[in-house]
Amino acid sequence: MNLPTPVGTLTAKGTTIVNLRAATEVLGRPLEHLACFMAWQVPSPLPNTRTSVVIYPAYVSISAPLSHEGPRQLLVAYIENCVRCPACKGLSRGLDGICTQCGTQTPDPVPPEVRSQVAEVLDD
Ligand SMILES: [Zn+2]
Repeated sequence: MNLPTPVGTLTAKGTTIVNLRAATEVLGRPLEHLACFMAWQVPSPLPNTRTSVVIYPAYVSISAPLSHEGPRQLLVAYIENCVRCPACKGLSRGLDGICTQCGTQTPDPVPPEVRSQVAEVLDD
């Protein structure tokens, strides 16, 4: 599997990341699911707030400063936690949690309420 490497740029509001959409297309996953995983995994730098993620056509913006390696590490963590089948180790878990290789069902670890922290903007 030839995954594009996500690259982050720090901004005043957090981090802008490119290549995530291309990576989720290779994985056969909606970008929104990866965005939910990121909103769930990355702690907010501000007190009493949750990290928000906004999906734009050409990039993804997250309301937290990420390290240089952060975007790539988040993509790897997403694959290991949400795409890899714990039974046969294939990258073959569907969005429904059922592995297309061995049929094992694995629950999605991303809590559904995280969706409220993710927005999509259709125009730049
Ligand atoms: Zn499997």
